[in-house]
Amino acid sequence: MAAKKAKHVTVKEIKEIVSKLTLQQKAFLTSGVGMWETAEFPKKGVPKEWMCDGPHGLRKQACNDMAAPVNDSAEAVSFPAECAMAASWDKEMIYEAAQTLGKEAQSENVQMVLGPGVNMKRSPLCGRNFEYMSEDPCLAGELGAAYVGGLQSTGVSACVKHFFANSQETDRLTSSSDMDETTARQIYLPAFETVVKKAHPGSIMAAYNRVNGTYMTEQKEYLTDILRKEWGFDGMVVSDWGATHNRPGAIEAGCDLTMWQQHETDKDIINAVKKGKLSEAKLDEACVNILKHVFKTLEAHKETKVDLDKDHEVVRRLFEGSIVLLKNSGNILPINKKKKVLLVGDFAKNPRYQGGGSSHVSTSRSVSAVEAMKDMTNVSYSQGYGPGPEAPQLTDPEFWNKKIKASDYAPDKKLMQAAVKAAKNADVCVIFAGLPEALESEGADRTNLCMPDSHNALIEEIAKVNKNVIVVLQNGAPVEMPWIDSVKGVLETYLGGEASGEAVRDVLFGDVNPSGRLPETFPVRLEDNPSYLYYFGCDDHVKYNEGEFIGYRYYTSKKMPVLFPFGYGLSYTTFDYSDLKVDASEKKDSFMSVSVKVTNTGKKAGREVVQLYVGVKECALPRPVRELKGFAKTKLLKPGESETVKFELTSRDFAHWSEDLKAYVHYTGEYEIQIAKNANDIVLTSPVDIDGVLPKTKQF
Ligand code: BGC
Repeated sequence: MAAKKAKHVTVKEIKEIVSKLTLQQKAFLTSGVGMWETAEFPKKGVPKEWMCDGPHGLRKQACNDMAAPVNDSAEAVSFPAECAMAASWDKEMIYEAAQTLGKEAQSENVQMVLGPGVNMKRSPLCGRNFEYMSEDPCLAGELGAAYVGGLQSTGVSACVKHFFANSQETDRLTSSSDMDETTARQIYLPAFETVVKKAHPGSIMAAYNRVNGTYMTEQKEYLTDILRKEWGFDGMVVSDWGATHNRPGAIEAGCDLTMWQQHETDKDIINAVKKGKLSEAKLDEACVNILKHVFKTLEAHKETKVDLDKDHEVVRRLFEGSIVLLKNSGNILPINKKKKVLLVGDFAKNPRYQGGGSSHVSTSRSVSAVEAMKDMTNVSYSQGYGPGPEAPQLTDPEFWNKKIKASDYAPDKKLMQAAVKAAKNADVCVIFAGLPEALESEGADRTNLCMPDSHNALIEEIAKVNKNVIVVLQNGAPVEMPWIDSVKGVLETYLGGEASGEAVRDVLFGDVNPSGRLPETFPVRLEDNPSYLYYFGCDDHVKYNEGEFIGYRYYTSKKMPVLFPFGYGLSYTTFDYSDLKVDASEKKDSFMSVSVKVTNTGKKAGREVVQLYVGVKECALPRPVRELKGFAKTKLLKPGESETVKFELTSRDFAHWSEDLKAYVHYTGEYEIQIAKNANDIVLTSPVDIDGVLPKTKQF
């Protein structure tokens, strides 16, 4: 375990400490020890720190051994996975939850939590989408900054990952994400930029993948020129676990610390310095960055006691605001408590509440829907389908060969017949379905958007005998819903963490009004996704040919139908929007102020998510028709109550990257402020004039 609270050490003192280390010690310091620690030299005044995964709760392993099983970690609170967190669109709640996580880290004497992940969800197929926030850089960046702010308010450092363009698990250790500068600057970099500029994370994790042929751990352009010099990052860059292929090259590029332990290559650094291929000053810089981080986090150590049962209530509140109501025909929801309700599906009893792989958390407090409703005498349960194949573990040497498909989950006739029989006598059937862990996990991508055959068949069969079917989805990423027209209600609950059953119960019966919104588009078919033709790549190169047109930027620009649009979510009440005001007089920190009044016009208290898009009506440059530039979640509004929501837009919110000028510039065009309920439902607009440049055109 790392040392206890340390005294303040200045940068000058740190430089002195580094100047007294031998070349060998300096090389040693730039790689971790074991799986989770930094190196220490007590005689030279160099202490060590301990880090652990994140981002959905602590995965603190008992030993620092690289072969320790992934799921063997200390008891901790399981938070909603990032896909669910992001569906809350609630910066304040995410800040509070991350602060709770920070206190848990302090109590376990952990100095750095590996997370949050703010990569863009380029394709719904990415096996790790459950661990990312959105397909939109504004949403991921703002929520990521809230997470980092909350976590670091406790003195524990955040390590924002995976920098950058880490969009797939297929060939994740080697594949090259090949894209032009505009795509990087418009889509794949900005969420990281927002987090760095707004929340000053202690650390950034350089991803496994390559970008345009070069490993991220060796990318001087991104790690030093953009991250440090342009954005002002002042922390420690850490490699993903095993992502460094060239230790001197990584140091030269600005990757300070190689994780996990890789001391067999210390000699490469020593030789490179001796031969003049790596300047010792550059090595010293890496050591200083590491020690600044170590001393700062140790100094911030506080003896902390936590009450995990209380923390359970925090994650439950976060999850309550994350549940997305996708369909509510004939106001089937909320369910009247007097009705006879049948819960169906193995997930009702054994919920899928977290993702697999490095973010797995060990908790004994997970509450299923069946357990949460055990005292409700009108509620009964039928299993409906079996659990199906177990998910292989990442540490299993056969992991890569164990591809499990949706068709491997054959319906269990007996279980299904029993459920159908019980459904005939119920007033309402609530079917719990979605994606088992074996179908989406770190280390492997999906190949389609199918739910298990057994889940789909059960929904279809029950819908034949009962008209009041509600589907509760537990999944980390979009699925196709072939049964959507046969059911009356759908709740997207993503992976809700250990309080999933309680929060779902409260939404089903109306004690909580759902206020989550989709942080990503649910396409009608996988083939509609803009990356469809290029995803996975070939010969280790993945072309990002769709450019900046990812997610809703593509669907809205092409006017394509989707299953559910980005930002979508219903409520048990209704909201009216009025009084849109746009003040374009530039002030110190604001380029434009926008305000809009939201009124609860329904009969139940509820919260609304107000979305502000900058619409591009006409521009000489090919650009998405709208882009999210602000969002706000109202307080709980009582029926008849109003709130005026305010946004401050920056000049950058109207700008676009220019490859000629190597800067974000305003292009002449027709723009619009669009206040929306989701990317396809614009409720108020106001035109805005932007004086800008015209893109250069070639003279023929
Ligand atoms: C993952 C990281 C994780 C690290 C440590 C890597 O394989 O990509 O996200 O933090 O392992 O578990």
